[in-house]
Parts: sequence; structure tokens; C-alpha cells
Amino acid sequence: MKTAAACRRRLPYGLAVAGLLVWTGPAPGQAPSALPPWTPGTLDIHHLATGQGNATFFVLPDGTTMLLDAGDANPPGREPIATPYPDASRSAGEWIARYIRRMAPSGRDPEIDYALVTHFHADHMGFVSEGSPPSTLGDYQLAGITDVAERVPIRRVLDRGWPDYDYPEPLDNPSVDNYRRFLEAGRRDRGLVVDRFAPGRADQIRLLRDPTAYPSFQVRNLHANGDVWTGTGDEVARIVPPLETVAPEDRPTENHSSLAFLLRYGAFSYYTGGDLQGVPPDGFPPWHDQETPIARGIGGPVDVAVIGHHGSIEPANAFFLSTLRPRVDIVPAWSRTHPAPVVLKRLLNRRIYADERDIFILEFRDETQAAIGGRAQQVASDHGHVVVRVAPGGASYQVFVLENRTESHHVLSIHGPYPSGR
Ligand SMILES: [Zn+2]
Repeated sequence: MKTAAACRRRLPYGLAVAGLLVWTGPAPGQAPSALPPWTPGTLDIHHLATGQGNATFFVLPDGTTMLLDAGDANPPGREPIATPYPDASRSAGEWIARYIRRMAPSGRDPEIDYALVTHFHADHMGFVSEGSPPSTLGDYQLAGITDVAERVPIRRVLDRGWPDYDYPEPLDNPSVDNYRRFLEAGRRDRGLVVDRFAPGRADQIRLLRDPTAYPSFQVRNLHANGDVWTGTGDEVARIVPPLETVAPEDRPTENHSSLAFLLRYGAFSYYTGGDLQGVPPDGFPPWHDQETPIARGIGGPVDVAVIGHHGSIEPANAFFLSTLRPRVDIVPAWSRTHPAPVVLKRLLNRRIYADERDIFILEFRDETQAAIGGRAQQVASDHGHVVVRVAPGGASYQVFVLENRTESHHVLSIHGPYPSGR
């Protein structure tokens, strides 16, 4: 099989590999094509490039749906800190909901079976301001995850804080308070199920619509709140010292507490971990590195890895990269500081691991590329929604990059097919 890099192509082109038709692009002058609809047995992972934070929509092989984060870093009435895509005419939550409605399995009303919040920051859950509109469903306002839920029903929520929201200290800011009112209203009025994400378990996220049809599918919870899966059974280890022994300036942050999981489907594997870090800044204690113990638990290569903390300075340490050896890196960048030059340098470094790799950046701004220089040209894509489409059974996958400057979702480029489980 050709290497995936050799198969990389920009539209409009058509190509058949080894008799397998992998793309029939439009002829020159025709409008670009759309992503073919999801079909049963396929695993789709859509990394949305809203420009305002993270949002990843999964369609699992049996049609179970999952949303991981719904960031909105630009609350109404405040000075924008992010560039919204497609534009500022709608909130990030509304754009996310519209995308989900379009990409969800056809034949039933769109809904989100699982919503996960990696940690409680605006670019992952939304930020409530005085200008955030009220919900019609309860005593809370719409921002990020609650904004999505207003438009596409959410059935279950998993987060790192339920029910106390007191680690590493009580979370009592307006956005978390609003989110908790959303959870209470949902539980009271709509049967919403809320649970705390439990590291080590592999049965908390399950196929709900056809549970026995795809036995090789599994989501292993890897980390939350300083507890990390060891790689043995459901066992977890504590990587944060007793909080009473930690100096106030060294206490774990929201980013350090993010949830992480490893998804497997046949030979295919995928890692994601919010804003976890692997390179503590000078002077900080070594346990501020969550990636090293996580990589020890995983213990080997993965096909696709989402780079932590948007690629900003502290993620993707050399041990993590040399253990996971990702064939595909996805950098959920949205700010001009994403990715940091040193992080892109590590991702491209062939001394850390020699294998081929393709790097997809959701929003790699011109000024960031200019500051980085020639290395910035070595990425596979620099803007757009990044969709990982895993073939039924998990033996191979492709990456589709979709237009995010408009709502057309036109295919900008296709990469692969990559064989899973190298
Ligand atoms: Zn973040």
C-alpha cells in the first residue's frame, strides 16, 4: 500500500489506490464535494474548527453519538479574544449544533447520547456573561455546552466534577454555577443522566444502540483529577501528592485535571486528553507532567493523537511521543499562540520517533505561521474541520479536512487511507 503521505492530495483530484476507489473528486470547475454520509459500522470523529475552542463530535459504529467539549471563548458583550468561524453571526454553540445536525446519523432526530466536558474552562465549556441569552428550558443561560443542549438534546453528561465540583478546590464561578443549574434542570425535567468520569474504567462510555454488534469497540478512561490508569485491569494510580502537602502556587490547575481517554475499534486507536500537559515549566514539580504516566499506561503506539492544550508550550513531551508514535496528530488550535513553535518542532522531530506522521492544525493563523517560519509548511492542513473516518471494523482510516470559513463543509483535502495498528 502506498504511504498515506503519498496519497495526500488537494482537491480537485480523483484517485484510486489498488483498485479501491478512495475518492472521486469533482472535475475542474465543479463545486467541491461533501463528506459522504456516515453509515453503520463506520466510526467518525469530527474535530470542529470554530476558532473559539474545542468541540469534537463522535458518531460511534452503532450510531451512538458523543460530544467532547463545546468551547465558546467569545461571550457576548465582551471583547473578543478569538476569531469565530464561519463568522460572528451565530454563537459557537449554535454553529456546533448546526454541524451536528448535519453530520449526525440520518433517519432519526439528532441527539447527543454522551456529552463530556474535559475541564471547566471557557474554550471547552463556554463562558457565561451578562449578555448570554437565557434558556427556554430552565433557569440558566446559553454558552458553549448549554447552548448546544438548547438545540440538540443531550441525554447523558460525564465530567470530572460531579456531584461536588470541589477538586482541587470548590468551583464556584458563574460559568460553572450556570452549568450546574443546566444539569439540575435536565435531571429534573428531561431525564438527563449525569455521572463523574471515572479513570480506569472501560464501561462508562458504551455503544447504546447496538451494543453487541461491534465487540472490538472500547473507550478506556485514562485520567481525571490526578488519577491515571496504570495499564493493568481497571487500576489507577494517584499522581498528585496529598493537596495539604502542596504549596499553594504548585496546586493542580483546571488544565492538569482534564479527563483523557483512549478509544479502540479493532486495530484502530485514538487518544485525547483536554489540556493535559507533559512539559512542566521550569521550577514546577515533576508531577505537573500528566502525559508521562498516561503514556506508560497506554504502553504503545496509537494511530491518532489529539495534542493537549491546543499545542501551547507544555504538551507532547518526548516520552509521550516516542511511546504513542502517532501517525496522525491533531492540534485543536484556536489562538495565535497555538501551536507553540517548540511543540510543532517536537511533533515533527524524527529523532523522537522515526515514523511518518501527518499533522493537522484546526486553525494555524498566518501570523503564527510567519513567526514559526519554514517548519510551518510541513503540516498536512492549516485550517478546517478535521474528520477522522474509520472503516467498519477499524482496519484503516482516512482524514478529511472540511471547509470551516463557510458552512459548506466542502472537502478541502483527503489523507490516507492509513492502515490501523502499525
Ligand atoms: Zn483549552
